[in-house]
Amino acid sequence: MKKTTDLLSRSNNDKQEAKKAINTLQEQIRYHNYRYYVLDDPVLSDGEFDRLMVKLQALEDKFPELQSPDSPTQQVGGAPGTELSSVPHPTPMLSLQTVYDKDEVKNFDKRCRENLNKEDIQYMAEPKYDGLAVELIYDKGRLSIAATRGDGQTGENITANIKTIKEVPLVLIGQEGIAPPDRLVVRGEIYMLLDEFKQLNEQRAKAGEPLFANPRNAAAGSLRQLDPKVTAQRPLHIFLYQVVQSEGHSFKTQFEVLQTLTKWGLKVNREKSQLCSGIEEAIDYHQHLAQIRDSLKYEIDGVVYKINLLSDRQELGFRTRNPRWALAYKFKPRQMTTSIKAIEVQVGRTGVLTPVAILEPVRISGVEVSRASLHNQSEIERKDIRIGDTVLVERAGDVIPYVVKPITEKRTGSEHIFHLPDQCPVCGSEVIMSEDKKKALCTGITCEAQLRKRISHFASKGGMDIEGLGEKMAVQLVNSGMVKDLSSIYQLQETDLLAMERMAEKSTDNLLQAIEASKDKNLSNFLFALGIPIVGEHLARVLCEYFATIDDLMKASQDKLFSIKEIGPEVASSITAFFANPKNLQVIEEMRQAGLSMSNPYYTKESFQPLAGTSFVFTGTLEHWTRDKAKQLVESLGGRTTNSVSKETNYVVAGPGAGSKLQKAEELNLSIMNEQEFIQFIEKHQKKGQ
Ligand SMILES: [Zn+2]
Repeated sequence: MKKTTDLLSRSNNDKQEAKKAINTLQEQIRYHNYRYYVLDDPVLSDGEFDRLMVKLQALEDKFPELQSPDSPTQQVGGAPGTELSSVPHPTPMLSLQTVYDKDEVKNFDKRCRENLNKEDIQYMAEPKYDGLAVELIYDKGRLSIAATRGDGQTGENITANIKTIKEVPLVLIGQEGIAPPDRLVVRGEIYMLLDEFKQLNEQRAKAGEPLFANPRNAAAGSLRQLDPKVTAQRPLHIFLYQVVQSEGHSFKTQFEVLQTLTKWGLKVNREKSQLCSGIEEAIDYHQHLAQIRDSLKYEIDGVVYKINLLSDRQELGFRTRNPRWALAYKFKPRQMTTSIKAIEVQVGRTGVLTPVAILEPVRISGVEVSRASLHNQSEIERKDIRIGDTVLVERAGDVIPYVVKPITEKRTGSEHIFHLPDQCPVCGSEVIMSEDKKKALCTGITCEAQLRKRISHFASKGGMDIEGLGEKMAVQLVNSGMVKDLSSIYQLQETDLLAMERMAEKSTDNLLQAIEASKDKNLSNFLFALGIPIVGEHLARVLCEYFATIDDLMKASQDKLFSIKEIGPEVASSITAFFANPKNLQVIEEMRQAGLSMSNPYYTKESFQPLAGTSFVFTGTLEHWTRDKAKQLVESLGGRTTNSVSKETNYVVAGPGAGSKLQKAEELNLSIMNEQEFIQFIEKHQKKGQ
C-alpha cells in the first residue's frame, strides 16, 4: 500500500517538475523569439535556441496534457479547416484617404490645423506597406483572434494561420514595468520580403505550380489557406502600427504606441517610422522614402501620415469611410521609356489569343523588363500602340509590367499598326473575335495550345461526363503522346493506359468503362463538350431544339442560326467558323466512327421556317393580335423581331400612331405593311407548312 502511494506521489512530483520546466522553457523561447524576430538582435546562437526547442518538445511529448495551445511548439500549424469563419471587428477597419499630390497633402494639413485650431501639428510618418492588413486581438496577454480586413465590418478568421508566423507572439511579454493590457486590439500588415517572394516563386515554378503575381498576392494567398501547415511554410512577416483598444493601458501619442508595442513583444517598424514636427518635414520624409524604396527588402507604395497626439485624433473623428486624422500619400508609379520591337501572339489553354509586346530590355526599379502583355486588340487600339513605338512602361507591385501609352511625339513613320491574326499561330485554325475586340479565340479543336483544357472540358459533367478524365489525367495523356486530339480518347487501349505512371488495373478499367459509357451521351452534351467558343450548356440545348442532327447544324447558314431567338451574330459566326474548319469536322467524323450516338431527344421545332433570315419591326398599335403574339408568330416561322429600324430590317409592320420608326422605314425604302396585310402574310406562310 505504501509503495503505491509513493509511486503516485513521485509521478505527481514529476509532473509538477515538468510543468515548471515547461513554463520556464516557454518563457525563455518567447524571449529569444522576441530578440530574434522583433528586435532583430538575438543573444543566443541558432544552435542554442534549437536545443531549447528540442527540450520543450520532448517534455511536451512526454506530458501531452501540459502542452498549451500557445506554446512556441505549436507555431507549425494545426489541423486544416473546411472554410474560414467570419469575425466582426470590434470597431470598423476603415481604409485611408489616399492622395498622390503634394498640394493635397498640404490641404489635408490645413484642414486638420483649422479644425483643431492649431499652428502646427506633429505627424507620425510610417511606410505604407504593400501587404495585407490584419487585426490581432490579445485577451489577458494571449492571442485569441486574428482576422483579415474583409469588408471592414467583418473579416475572415485567420487565427490558426497567423499563429504560424514567428514574428507574431502568441503571448505578450511585459517589460520595464509596463504590463500588457487586459485586452489589446492591434492592427498591422502582413507582408513578404522581396527575396523570399522570389524564392517562393522559383520553388513553385519547379513544382509546376502557378506563380504569384506579386508579394502582396503571395502573402494574401498564404494567409487565407485552409491548411495552416501550408501557411507555416510561407515566409510571412508582420509590422504592427495601430492600437484600436487597450484595456488597462492608455496612450497619449502614436510615438508612444509604437514604443510600447515593441515592449510587449510586437514587431513595429521603428527604423522607418519618423516623427515629423510639421507637414513640410513629413513631405520631406516622403521624398526620402521614395528615394530609398528600391533598397528596402519589402515593397512599400507610399507613406502614411497619422496625427501623433491621440487626443487630437479623437477630436477630429471619422468620416464614413476613413479617419479624418490620417492620410496615405502614395508614390508615383515606377515608369521607364523603351521601345516595342515586336508583338507576339500567345495562345492560352482556353484558346484565347493574347498579344504580348517584346520590349527593348529596360531596368525598372532593379528588374529587367523585356515583355509586357497588351491584353487584347481593343486595348491596343484604344491606346494606339504600334510596333516600333517608343512607349512608357510601368511596373507597379506586379511582376508583369504593362504599357501605359505610346509616346507619339517620337514616331518616325516607320511604326506598324498591329492586328491579331485571323489564323491561330499554333494550329492555323480560324480565329473569331468578339464584337468589342476584347476576346479573340482559336476555333480549332485540335489546337495543341488548348488540348489539355479541351480534353478535361470534353470529359466534364455537363459534357461527356467521363469520370477519371480530369485535367491531371489529360496532362498525362497529352504528354505521353497517346491523345493527339479529342477523338483519340476513344482509341485508348488498356495496355497503353497501364504503361502510364500511377495507373493501376482498377483505375484503368474504370476509365475505359466511363469512356465507353460516354458514347451514349446525347447531342446536347456532345455540342457542349466540343467547346465551340461561346456555346455553353444552355445554347447547346437550344441548338438541339432547332436542329435534329449534327449534320443539320453543320450545314446551317449564319442567317439560319441568327433567326433563332437566343442566338446573336457572335454565336452564329462562332458556330459556322467552328464547322467550317476541316480539322474539326475530321475529329467529329472519327468520333462518329468510334460509335458516339449523338442522339437528340430535344428536337421539337418544326423544320418549316419560311421566314428564316428575315427580320421584323413593329410600330404603332396592333388591334387584331397583341404585340407579343405577333412577335411569337414571326419567330415560330423562323423570323426575327427587333426594336429598331435599320438597313437589316426586312419588314416594318405599322399600326395607327406609328411615328419615327415608320418615317425611317420610308427613308430606307423598306417593305411596310399595315396590320391587315401582316395577318394575310402570316396566314399565307402558315398554310405553306401544312
Ligand atoms: Zn489554335
